[in-house]
Amino acid sequence: MPLLRQLEFAFRPVAGIADPGRFGAALDAGLTDPDYKDVEQSLNLEQTARDLLRTNGADRIATELRVKWNSRLKTAAGRADYREKLVSLNPRLLDHPTEIDRTLRHELAHILAQFRAGRRRISPHGAEWQRACVDLGIANEKRCHNLPFPAQTYAARFVYRCPNCRQEFPRVRRMRRAVACLVCCRKHNGGDFDSRFRLKLLSSR
Ligand SMILES: [Zn+2]
Ligand SMILES: [Zn+2]
Repeated sequence: MPLLRQLEFAFRPVAGIADPGRFGAALDAGLTDPDYKDVEQSLNLEQTARDLLRTNGADRIATELRVKWNSRLKTAAGRADYREKLVSLNPRLLDHPTEIDRTLRHELAHILAQFRAGRRRISPHGAEWQRACVDLGIANEKRCHNLPFPAQTYAARFVYRCPNCRQEFPRVRRMRRAVACLVCCRKHNGGDFDSRFRLKLLSSR
């Protein structure tokens, strides 16, 4: 069954493979938004956001405001929707807890700025937004919404190892086929698949 056999070359460790942490692993496993609900509640982001609106004179919309994790956000750390009174946060922030509060305030500043402006159109990161940032305690906030890490960071949940040269092969997914170490197969078997060099699962999480 040659189709089920494959030789594998270990790429140099790249930035794309990051330690996923607890929530990164959950994210990688494709869990959906409700799975983050308890986390969301424990962090009490919504309450924090509502309190911030109240102390800045936006009582009228404070109780309407919702904060949700949205795993469909790719590179954006967060998003603010004034009409929906909704702040969306990227669950990848859970791996960077120090960024959560700042992102929340950044998005909240969009809501607060539009509330103050009423029906008037304002530019997304213009003077009104900057003023709101100052009032929300993030005076030097930049307009950048992007996450402090690349979008395509995959969690290596499975680590395989060549029994011969001990080279490790971190992988996001479980290997479904018989995979052997290319380097060893080349060196000792003329480049053909050799089950002596079949990769073994070392650890998974
Ligand atoms: Zn923004
Ligand atoms: Zn090897």
